[in-house]
Amino acid sequence: MKQVLVTGGAGYIGSHTIVSLVEQGFYPIIVDDLRNSSRVILDGLAELTVDRFLFIPIDICDKEALFRVFDDHTFDAIIHFAAYKSVGESCEVPLQYYQNNLIGLMNVLEACSRYSIPKFVFSSSCTVYGEPDQKQVYETTPKRLPESPYGFTKWMGEQIIEDVHRNSVPFQTICLRYFNPIGAHPSGLIGELPVGIPNNLLPYITQTAAGIRSHLTVFGNDYPTPDGTCIRDYVHVNDVADAHVRALLFTSENPLSVFNIGTGKGTSVLEMIQYFNEVSGMDLPYHIGSRRAGDITEIFANVSYSNATLGWRAKRNVKEALNDAWNWEKRQAKSND
Ligand code: UDP
Repeated sequence: MKQVLVTGGAGYIGSHTIVSLVEQGFYPIIVDDLRNSSRVILDGLAELTVDRFLFIPIDICDKEALFRVFDDHTFDAIIHFAAYKSVGESCEVPLQYYQNNLIGLMNVLEACSRYSIPKFVFSSSCTVYGEPDQKQVYETTPKRLPESPYGFTKWMGEQIIEDVHRNSVPFQTICLRYFNPIGAHPSGLIGELPVGIPNNLLPYITQTAAGIRSHLTVFGNDYPTPDGTCIRDYVHVNDVADAHVRALLFTSENPLSVFNIGTGKGTSVLEMIQYFNEVSGMDLPYHIGSRRAGDITEIFANVSYSNATLGWRAKRNVKEALNDAWNWEKRQAKSND
């Protein structure tokens, strides 16, 4: 059975990917220090996979501890999720973001070479496109400088990987540029667990619906879009998880490949609220507020290259994702009672 190291495997996208990997016959070994996750997710994973994974609690920035994992196990691939991900927080503590996200990545890349791991999958982001001229972006759309230290860590992460591949290295890298992953596993056993007040739209919506927050603030309705609110490409986290399995199965002459992981369809903030009301039967309280610094107006993926070359396509729609996210939130609320 193929063994895969998954850094950050207890995180939001990481945990859903563990389930997809096990379903497809891989044996994942998670390294995660749980600083942005919790035992709840490991318990959910144990139930969903019937314990078919190993968990090693280490910080990947601790190179000695990381290399010990490679001394003790053999891997056919590495999927590297472990990183900080809050745009707002990254502006407050940029050094922590650069240290954690870039040192972690460099340690893992060094391990790829030193231990001859044939495949490396990197969690990148559509933030590398910055504010693009064309709202629909292709993998070939020129990268632009991001708006936040978090964005820069992904931008620089891709640059580091590109530079590493300028010399011949004995591994293949696949960068997956996620758009806006949302939703949860339909079982409600794993999902997004934001620490503190959520920054992202979806957990804010579900926490408002659950009564944890009084109302949602829509960040600006004066953007040049049909309803004035920003447009994003929201993609179900289980589809994002499946993209990682496709990446492991993907072979290419090219040592480095980049794929957009989105649906190809944009949805505005007000449309998201309307869809949430439809699936939940609620009337979500919201106010219109001012624009959030750093937000771009509109971006969505062109997915023809991912469809044709990676053999991956998002199968679930936004309403399914909203329904699954709401189901997860309700289960969390019940277990906290
Ligand atoms: N958003 C909002 N209110 C919130 C959180 C987000 O109106 O409380 C908007 C945000 O301005 C953006 C969209 O929802 O247009 C998606 O934001 P999110 O932070 O989820 O993802 P981003 O695209 O910024 O990475």
